[in-house]
Amino acid sequence: MASRFNCEIDPDSGFCHGVVRAVDKAEEFLSGGGRLFSLGAMVHNTAEIARLAGKGLVTIDLDGLRQLGSGDTVLIRAHGEPPATYELARSIGVNLIDCTCPVVLKLQRDIAQAWRSASASGGTVVIFGKKGHAEVNGLVGQTGGEAIVIENLDEIDRLDFSRHIELFSQTTRDPAEYEALKEALLERTSDITIHDTICRQVFGRHRKLAAFAAGHDVILFVSGHDSSNGKVLFELCRQHNPKTYWVEDPKSLRPEWLSGAASIGITGATSTPRWQLEAVAARCKLYNP
Ligand code: SF4
Repeated sequence: MASRFNCEIDPDSGFCHGVVRAVDKAEEFLSGGGRLFSLGAMVHNTAEIARLAGKGLVTIDLDGLRQLGSGDTVLIRAHGEPPATYELARSIGVNLIDCTCPVVLKLQRDIAQAWRSASASGGTVVIFGKKGHAEVNGLVGQTGGEAIVIENLDEIDRLDFSRHIELFSQTTRDPAEYEALKEALLERTSDITIHDTICRQVFGRHRKLAAFAAGHDVILFVSGHDSSNGKVLFELCRQHNPKTYWVEDPKSLRPEWLSGAASIGITGATSTPRWQLEAVAARCKLYNP
């Protein structure tokens, strides 16, 4: 049985700046009545994608891009794209609305520059990130596909420590894991340049989210299951509050999760829209006797 409880939406949750900017630009274009193609899902959130699809957004992949023509408009999402995608878009002649997050754009440029100097002197670029993730593909593309991507500490044995290393991180990686990786690499080599490239918004979020999770009896974590940032933040919540539950849809909320709790905290990934957090809060109210 559920008990009477307070319900609080994390004031720091909701879309990050990069995603807000991309969604705003998409909605601005769609308000003109045109059709807009998004290269890849704009956010890793099925409900938000469905909402935007209702306004005329069509999600496509690279094969879909090849089918378009010069009158079509394509949105590049906040994760960014490798140079090859821009070349393809140019060759087809589509209009681009480039919503690459400014933070990601700077990271792409820094990696391209580091790669130019490292490769000229026999060095290498290493990216701490998720292989195949859109942002990481865009980053690796700055090095002509030569950067080495490592996902965890176990993979550092793959690196050639006789070469200079330029180390970068995907913007949404766990800051604590990046610290551990840096320390492990510094034990193996001094010939390394470390770039702190976790997004400041993500960095600050981790610290505040840990306190938010610890400050409530139960945490409802709202996110699509394919959000890599969602997985990282969910685990962070669980470390600080074992009663953390993943909610993809308000209907999946189970009343027994709320049993005996006096305070419920509702939070989510950087790809979780505010309206979805509010929908989960409204659902909780149904179980507040
Ligand atoms: S997490 Fe940071 S870097 Fe990534 S899209 Fe959002 S604001 Fe940009």
